[in-house]
Amino acid sequence: MKKAFVTKEMIEEITKTYPTPFHIYDEKGIRENAKALKEAFAWNKGYKEFFAVKATPNPFLINILRDYGCGTDCSSKTELMLSHAMGIPGNDIMFSSNDTPAEEFAYAAKLGATINLDDITHIDFLEKTIGYIPETISCRYNPGGYFAIANSIMDNPGDAKYGFTTEQMFEGFKILKEKGAKNFGIHAFLASNTVTNDYYPTLARQLFELAVKLKEEVGVHIGFINLSGGIGIPYKPEDQANDIRLIGEGVHKAFDEVLVPAGMGDVAIYTELGRFMMAPYGHLVTKAIHEKHTHKEYIGVDACAVNLMRPAMYGAYHHITVLGKEDRPCDHKYDVVGSLCENNDKFAIDRMLPEIEIGDYIAIHDTGAHGFAMGYNYNGKLKSAELLLKEDGNVELIRRAETPADYFATFDCFDIYKKMIEES
Ligand SMILES: *Cc1c(COP(=O)(O)O)cnc(C)c1O
Repeated sequence: MKKAFVTKEMIEEITKTYPTPFHIYDEKGIRENAKALKEAFAWNKGYKEFFAVKATPNPFLINILRDYGCGTDCSSKTELMLSHAMGIPGNDIMFSSNDTPAEEFAYAAKLGATINLDDITHIDFLEKTIGYIPETISCRYNPGGYFAIANSIMDNPGDAKYGFTTEQMFEGFKILKEKGAKNFGIHAFLASNTVTNDYYPTLARQLFELAVKLKEEVGVHIGFINLSGGIGIPYKPEDQANDIRLIGEGVHKAFDEVLVPAGMGDVAIYTELGRFMMAPYGHLVTKAIHEKHTHKEYIGVDACAVNLMRPAMYGAYHHITVLGKEDRPCDHKYDVVGSLCENNDKFAIDRMLPEIEIGDYIAIHDTGAHGFAMGYNYNGKLKSAELLLKEDGNVELIRRAETPADYFATFDCFDIYKKMIEES
């Protein structure tokens, strides 16, 4: 049973101040999970989680993670700027980007962020851009083929645009060493949203073995191994949640079996989790505003794919709770839809739910990562507010909703802008 962390009564109170739709985040859940992650990797002296900013780029939420020692993983200049504005020091910032513009490398270097190169040609590109090779540098690895655990295929790195091939890792580390790099990192992201405790341990063993070879053959010091993101969450009620303690133990075992005997017991383990850190602790709360009885039964809500794109983009499942009707039988079959002029703007298709009435509040689950962040403005729709449900039960606004003026802002150098603002 998936349970919402808000009730109908709470939402009725909150909507007196903040109208639907909005994303709301659960501080207590975020804290408990971050603490569990920290404990699961406490065996590793240099362990650090660099939260993947792209998943939930809100400084107030990232600040909660800072209490547990987390840094940030940035994929662009604006994410770097956000981290810097928060006062996060360079050594707590990872820059894992691809197809990287020169100015973004330059800015990352200026902040002292750790640069994780996506391609062997980026060695020259970086050196030409900033004039030197940083002492600490990381390379992203992509072994190609399929990533499998016990014969079951998890993902298809051979089809992914990211990373160096195995040969390029050896060649790249040689070049970087000649150019003065001293402290090397290896990064890989080979499967996404894995709902198994075996992904990290399997990936770690593969990277640890590579690290030993790189150390022996190229003579470089490997300072850290970055397992990146990819730990999933149980979106569907029948999914079994990952156990981060077992995952930490599995990585520990591989560490003791591969790195320690090679005299590499000082390697720091890094992670760049996004989904695992935040997804379950966010709901998109929306209100039923229409019902439609045609070839199917439709419930129209006041949110749309602009607020949560994953169902439209990937056909992703997001669980739905009709607030106040948690105990009613799910005996109605609905498509729950938004208002975009796009037929894929559906939060659920043929979903069995309790009977929904106009005015019912609906919590769409697991929107805390890759939810608000993927939002866009199609059909002139505005992005919603983000709220934080604090541990003490109070609710705090952590991002206001967009206004028409925000939508029009990029016309501010044109005459028509004044009229748009008068209208809004
Ligand atoms: C997206 C991304 C992450 C986070 O992935 P999750 O699936 O949210 O854990 C981490 N690192 C990199 C480089 C990414 O692109």
